[in-house]
Amino acid sequence: MAVVISVLANKGGVGKTVTATSIAAILSQQSKKVLLIDVDHQGSASLTFGFDPDKFKITTFDVMVNKNKIKTANAAIFTTEIENLYIMPANDDMTGLEFEVLTKLNEKYPNPFCLLRDGIAPIRDTYDYIVIDTPPSLGLAQGNALVASNKALVVFQTDYLPIRSTLKMIENIKMFIKHQKLDLEVMGILGTMYDSRVRICNQSIDELKKTANDIRLFKTLIPRTTLFSSMPAYYGKPAVLVEPNNHLVNAYYEFIKEAELN
Ligand code: ADP
Ligand code: MG
Repeated sequence: MAVVISVLANKGGVGKTVTATSIAAILSQQSKKVLLIDVDHQGSASLTFGFDPDKFKITTFDVMVNKNKIKTANAAIFTTEIENLYIMPANDDMTGLEFEVLTKLNEKYPNPFCLLRDGIAPIRDTYDYIVIDTPPSLGLAQGNALVASNKALVVFQTDYLPIRSTLKMIENIKMFIKHQKLDLEVMGILGTMYDSRVRICNQSIDELKKTANDIRLFKTLIPRTTLFSSMPAYYGKPAVLVEPNNHLVNAYYEFIKEAELN
C-alpha cells in the first residue's frame, strides 16, 4: 500500500515545493518507486525537474475533473530524468478547479473533496510513495490532497508571524479529518529557512514548542541557504540530487530518518 504524503502550509514561499520535491527525490534514491503529484497551478514541482508546466497537455486537473479526456491517471503521469521518480504535473488549468467544481456541485461533483483520491485510486498502489505538493492555505485543492493522503506534513517558515496561522491551519486540518472521517495522520511541523544566527528563528521555534501542545515539531530544521534558490533553475533537478553532501541536503535526509519515512 502506497504511503501518500501531502505537504502543506498556510503561506506561499515557505519551502513546500522544495520540501515535497526533496522528499520525493530522496525516497527515489533509496530505491522506492515515487510519484510526485502537483496540485498547485504555479507548476513549481515540474519546474524543479526541468519541465515547462505549460507544455503538459494532460495534468492533475484532468485526473480530477476531466475523466472523459483520459482513460486512467497514467495518462497524466510522466517519467523524470531520475530513476523511480514520476510526476503528475499541474499548470494554469488548475486555476479553474474551484469554479469548475463549485458551479457543478449537484450534477457533477457530489463529493468535491474526493476527486483526486478517486482519480488516482487505480494506480495508487503501483507506487511505494506518493508526495503531493500543494498551493498555500486550505481550499479545494488542499482538501483533495488531504483526502487522497494518509500523512500530512505542515511546513513552517521559522519566523514569528506564521506561528499563529500555522497552528490554526493544523486545527482546521484536524477538524476536516474528523468531519470527512479520514484515516490521516498529521505528521507534524517541519521548520524551514532556519538560520541559527537570527534571533527570531530561534524565538519562533521556542514559541511554537510552547504553544503547539500535542503537535509534533520535528527536531530537524531545514537551514536557510542560497543553494535552493538557484538549484532548480540551473540544473533542472532538486538540490538533493545535485549536491549530495551539502548541509541543507543533509537536513532533508535527516528529516526523512526522523519522520521514519524510509
Ligand atoms: P512554496 O512551495 O512554499 O511556495 P518554495 O519551495 O517554492 O516555497 O520556496 C520558495 C522560494 O524559496 C524558492 O525560490 C526556493 O528556492 C527558496 N527556498 C526554499 N527553501 C529554502 C531554504 N531552505 N533556504 C533558502 N531558500 C529556500
Ligand atoms: Mg510551491
